[in-house]
Amino acid sequence: METILGIDLGTTNSEVSVIRGNDVVVIEKDGHRLLPSVVGIDLSGNLLVGHPAKNQAILYPERTIKSIKRKMGEDIRIKLGDQEYSPPEISAMILRTLRSYAEESLGQKVSKAVITVPAFFNDTQREATRLAGELAGLDVVRIINEPTAASLIYNSDSTQQETLLVYDLGGGTFDVSIVRVEDGVLEVLASHGDTHLGGDDFDQLLFDYVCDTFKKQHKVDLREIPVAVSRVLQAVEEAKKRLSVEPFTQIKEEFITEKNGISLHLDMELSRMDYEEQILPLLEKTLTCLNDALNDAHLHPDDIDKVIMVGGASRTPLVHQLLESRLGSKLHGEIDPDLCVTMGAAVQGGLISGTKIGRVLIDITPHTLGTNVFDPMTNSPFVFSPIIKRNTPIPCSRSNAYGTLYDKQEAVDIDVYQGESDDVRQNVLIGHFHLSGLAKVPQGNQIICRFDLDINGILHVTATEKNTGLAGNITVENVLTEHKTEVNQAFREHLNGFFADEEAIPVESEEVVDTELVIGDKNFASQLGLADGWEKRYAKEAALIQRAVTFISKVTGDDKKDIEKRIKELVDAINRNDADQTTSLVSQLEDLLYYLEDSV
Ligand code: AMP
Repeated sequence: METILGIDLGTTNSEVSVIRGNDVVVIEKDGHRLLPSVVGIDLSGNLLVGHPAKNQAILYPERTIKSIKRKMGEDIRIKLGDQEYSPPEISAMILRTLRSYAEESLGQKVSKAVITVPAFFNDTQREATRLAGELAGLDVVRIINEPTAASLIYNSDSTQQETLLVYDLGGGTFDVSIVRVEDGVLEVLASHGDTHLGGDDFDQLLFDYVCDTFKKQHKVDLREIPVAVSRVLQAVEEAKKRLSVEPFTQIKEEFITEKNGISLHLDMELSRMDYEEQILPLLEKTLTCLNDALNDAHLHPDDIDKVIMVGGASRTPLVHQLLESRLGSKLHGEIDPDLCVTMGAAVQGGLISGTKIGRVLIDITPHTLGTNVFDPMTNSPFVFSPIIKRNTPIPCSRSNAYGTLYDKQEAVDIDVYQGESDDVRQNVLIGHFHLSGLAKVPQGNQIICRFDLDINGILHVTATEKNTGLAGNITVENVLTEHKTEVNQAFREHLNGFFADEEAIPVESEEVVDTELVIGDKNFASQLGLADGWEKRYAKEAALIQRAVTFISKVTGDDKKDIEKRIKELVDAINRNDADQTTSLVSQLEDLLYYLEDSV
């Protein structure tokens, strides 16, 4: 079968993929799968493409060209070194580089490619792209739209009709498309976008903020110093990416400039919260485009089955939050937003050459992992704060900042939960540790909680006091598998402890455990010797007992004994079928829990 390359010729980065066997493989070069779409000529006249060109952009911005995609279709010449080139010629340098990477990796010559373009590209821009391919020695067998490529890689198991929303936020452009898929046939129902909205604009906001702050501190405007401009731009872009996984980040650029013979350094902290406030108006514009696309397609948010995220900037956590509140939890996070377009182009190439393509397997975490927080609005200590959301490709690292609750708080408990409920009591506690020795400062002392999940499903959780660096950590094995069975067992052993003086309760076989839930169910009922169907009548009691049992590990001494006593009395009342006594004991146990939960 002939090889057809799938190429995403992006504004910021470009990638190339091929079908190998039945799989889609993204070509790597020196450990990188993204080739920066940057072209330069060095001082000796050598052509630089990708990372070397991006690096020289700092020192020689005039010898380097970025974002050429924005100029495709324009009748212009661009100076590079001592020569002038057209936009397709510059793009051809990128395509030629990708082609040589693919040939090196495959060990054979390749001459055909499918290249993707934004859905909003007009005929002139598409023709310019085809010409760039030809100049790079490639027969461009098909030009396809980026959202179509992204949808092609989405593996739907169902043969039923599905409506996908492709949200593509790249470096320079945004577009949103609504695509209907049925039996492998794709139809773009509507497409909207903004050709000048993307991650570069977020960089610009941060750049201005950093320059303004620096000017206030040192009375020097970095915008007027070309080398400083390139350095700050690169530093804020890196900082922006870190803010997608960290609540705070530091921008440090030593010797950024000098004043009166004295070196000046840039050293500034940025918070995700402040950054999000700056970019919110831009993200709201993307939601307006999304509404327009829905209106054009005559669809309602409920009609969308899946949202596919494309483009590096779609990794911004605020984007996820806004989309989830607009469309519900339908984000399909399994596809790498940087790679789905090139992979889709390769799938299209495979379809053209008649290659059978298997499932694209991507490792993801199937469960959300997070911790519990106190919500002052509802006075509840059981609010689940997700840190790594389900369907996130692994390995991955995420962190959030939390504040202490009261002045001079010296310790915090970090509980690690697995599950999807907003209420941690419905999720599974998979780890716990205590961080003590915190500085005696007013409430709101920031603790950074970081989750690192590796490819083997091992989760490392670290809590660090931001101001002092004091840290504690825990490692949890096997977080990719559901912890229900283990917890079920732990819960049963815990429960058995209450009945130690009575006849031992036999532990059910694993077979039964696997198919049954922890609470309000037959398993729980059978341990208590309750009749089938009791959980329908006693669901509230079962939930309360579960809450009390979960809470017990947080208290000691008389408080612990009190809770144990109340649970036992309540279980006895249920066993006796004593409705009045059950009602009264429920309210006593509730009161006790409210009181104690407030005080720990
Ligand atoms: P693309 O055009 O799809 O390659 O997207 C490039 C844009 O995505 C650039 O503005 C990058 O700075 C931005 N980007 C890449 N990774 C991240 C990230 N982890 N968080 C936020 N923005 C990112």
